[in-house]
Amino acid sequence: MAASVGLPSDDLAVQATNDDATSCKRYAVDRGYWKDEFIRYLYRSSEKKSPEISRGYYARVKSIHILVDQFLDRTQQKCQLVTFGAGSDTLHWLLWKRKKLPALHVEVDFPTVTARKSHCIKTRPVLLEALSNPVITMEAIRSDHYVLLPADLRDVKSLGKQLIDAGLDPNLPTLFLAECVLAYVEGAKVNDVIRWTAEHFKTSVFLNYDPINPFDKFGEIMKQNLKSRGCALLGMETCPDSESQVKRYHDNGWEGAWSMDMAEVYARLPRDDVARIERIDFLDERELLDQLLRHYCLSGAHLDSQQLGELCLLPLVYSSERTLQIKDSLQG
Ligand code: SAH
Repeated sequence: MAASVGLPSDDLAVQATNDDATSCKRYAVDRGYWKDEFIRYLYRSSEKKSPEISRGYYARVKSIHILVDQFLDRTQQKCQLVTFGAGSDTLHWLLWKRKKLPALHVEVDFPTVTARKSHCIKTRPVLLEALSNPVITMEAIRSDHYVLLPADLRDVKSLGKQLIDAGLDPNLPTLFLAECVLAYVEGAKVNDVIRWTAEHFKTSVFLNYDPINPFDKFGEIMKQNLKSRGCALLGMETCPDSESQVKRYHDNGWEGAWSMDMAEVYARLPRDDVARIERIDFLDERELLDQLLRHYCLSGAHLDSQQLGELCLLPLVYSSERTLQIKDSLQG
């Protein structure tokens, strides 16, 4: 693991949220909420979590996977994927396994986090096997379809340069994915990143999953929990609800923005699969799950100069035709 000396303590606390997320995902995978044969190689133990947490993570992972798949399908994989604050995410390996890789996938995180991931990938053949022609250093990886990039989202100038140097082609359709990361970054810096992506990639989608509603009782507890560990939800203060998520895209050069809380997303997920996961763990109190889901949202926006259709608009994703397709793919 790379030395973390010199980083302010709140950066370390923010990095540690990756372990929390991966631990919750690992537990849910072990319980059978969704399939991920790779997560065990990035997070070794599986601590017990409540059914609400597992269902919340299920909705988060499932909805993002469905939207990423939709983007890959619409672009016939002639596209790129950029994951901001990727942490220990296994998406790249899951796509590789299904032969669904984009032309290039760039994962960005702090050097401490990319160093850990780089070490895991280098030392676990099952992960390494997915990369072609990899060049691995302590904190970074370059390969034909995958780049692991140590970078700080708060420095958009350097981030932008690194992304272009990584080989991203501004003319290829590109999906930017931010899963539970922007809330930790100061509002003005998030705007810089969102604006930079819109200015440089004319056929693109931005997808963001973030906590919202910090001002009610549940939100206060959520904020306090994180604050007591040294994590301030800086981004959430300037973007505290679905409406401001949409406005943020529009203010920074994006079109067709939408946002919905995770209770709404949960209600739109394929019913058969939801029925299946709801049988895994007995839920005492539905109210608590609803509260939890209402404190996170999924939002997105697109730019579509190549007219591929309105790329990844969640409200349209679950048309009855699409629901049938999703059902088929889940059963297959
Ligand atoms: N996206 C992953 C991890 C979420 S945890 C998942 O959902 O499972 C948040 C991640 O964002 C951490 O890995 C943290 O190190 C990263 N992160 C937070 N602020 C960042 C910044 N300014 N620059 C780069 N990465 C950042």
